[in-house]
Amino acid sequence: SPASAHPPTKAFLTGCCEILIASENDLNALDAKSGDGDTGSTLAGAARALIEAMDTLPLADHTQLYRAIGLELSQTMGGSSGVLLAIFFAAAGDASSSGLPMREALQAGLDRMRQIGGANPGDRTMVDALVPALDALSDGLRHAASAARAGADYTATLSTAKAGRSAYVNAEQLIGHVDPGAEAVARLFEHLAS
Ligand code: ADP
Ligand code: MG
Ligand code: MG
Repeated sequence: SPASAHPPTKAFLTGCCEILIASENDLNALDAKSGDGDTGSTLAGAARALIEAMDTLPLADHTQLYRAIGLELSQTMGGSSGVLLAIFFAAAGDASSSGLPMREALQAGLDRMRQIGGANPGDRTMVDALVPALDALSDGLRHAASAARAGADYTATLSTAKAGRSAYVNAEQLIGHVDPGAEAVARLFEHLAS
């Protein structure tokens, strides 16, 4: 389980990638409401590339694994989400190399992503799902998953986005739709907890 210190297996990582691939159309549809309609394709493209690279990933070493994922994302993902997630994993790798355990390393990744991307909770981004999910992760994956879902659903109540492309979209178009990045995070955690 990813909440433990055990190295993730190929099947575990492949399952994470498959959930993103299966979500491609739904996430594109959400991004069509708030942005340019490509979040699903961007994430699914990265997930396919990761599956392709699975045999070369350094699974046994968290530090090297985070860095390898960050590198893979930076090479295969376009868009805001690609840059930000590449930063997230690169920074998680740096934190892990200094001895921090998994949850803290991921937290350092999120902190760095927020420093560079400038998004706070309530700005209608994936940060709205990631912050509560990582906060709850010490209580276990089920807690993290319901926190991520609540955080993602909350973005549908926000009529203004303060970061990313959806900052240019008007309130009537945003309200009632979950932010695609936050939805992707929630689905990933829900899959992990299931
Ligand atoms: P774009 O097509 O605008 O380049 P994507 O469609 O790849 O970007 O990703 C959009 C998602 O990225 C949004 O749904 C949001 O969750 C996330 N996002 C955008 N900007 C930021 C930011 N500054 N900080 C955190 N997340 C962001
Ligand atoms: Mg987009
Ligand atoms: Mg785009």
